Amino acid sequence: MTMRKPLVAANWKMNGSDALARELTAALATVNLVNVDVLVCPPATLLHTLASTEQCLLGAQNLSQYTSGAYTGELSASLLTEAGVRFVLVGHSERRTLFAESDLVLAEKMQQAIAHGLTPVYCIGENLQQRQQEKTGQVLAKQLAAVYASHPEFIAKSVIAYEPVWAIGTGEAATPEQAQQAHAEVRQQLAQYDSKAAATVRILYGGSVNSKNATELFGQPDIDGGLVGGASLNAEEFLHICQSA
Ligand code: PEP
Repeated sequence: MTMRKPLVAANWKMNGSDALARELTAALATVNLVNVDVLVCPPATLLHTLASTEQCLLGAQNLSQYTSGAYTGELSASLLTEAGVRFVLVGHSERRTLFAESDLVLAEKMQQAIAHGLTPVYCIGENLQQRQQEKTGQVLAKQLAAVYASHPEFIAKSVIAYEPVWAIGTGEAATPEQAQQAHAEVRQQLAQYDSKAAATVRILYGGSVNSKNATELFGQPDIDGGLVGGASLNAEEFLHICQSA
């Protein structure tokens, strides 16, 4: 039996405030969450507010595929590391769709993250049309292959987030059965590259997780926690979700 410590991650997207960062750390300090890792990915300007807290791990929402140089507005892996960041989201569906980040660019971002000691949370997932056309397995396999086919050693250094695009921000989470099936598929795909790492890598579910559905989702055998958007903007709600893991 493989032991994987659950991880619950907050993705604030372009939301939140210094006040929320303080409220959340105060809320986390009231409970003793020993059996779950809590990660918060605030907007970059709020990283400093959370950098000194022991209540949660710190993550960024994005990083540059470049090491340094004339890339106005971008943040490199080393800048993030220096700011106290230990995790970084890579390939969130909003980055893939709204900012046209291709598999190729995402593979470069994964390289940058890992080269600088950041743990990437590699986000994958099918859109509604792909699910309806029963292409979910294919889509996940392609997104995983883009990174791990040439770098199987990255699996052990990653966290994976399965986030069906149709469930993100819609209030319509995948059912525990749908999510478990996809997670098992992801683990199976990864096992083709490195079976040992596939058994130990944490695979988070994301897409309309809330305090009501978290327990059942996190109870599935291949679901090792969650990536939480909207519901992470309420400190009390997020705390409940963390306690469900
Ligand atoms: C996300 O942004 O990664 C996400 C899952 O959002 P939400 O929880 O709001 O669906």
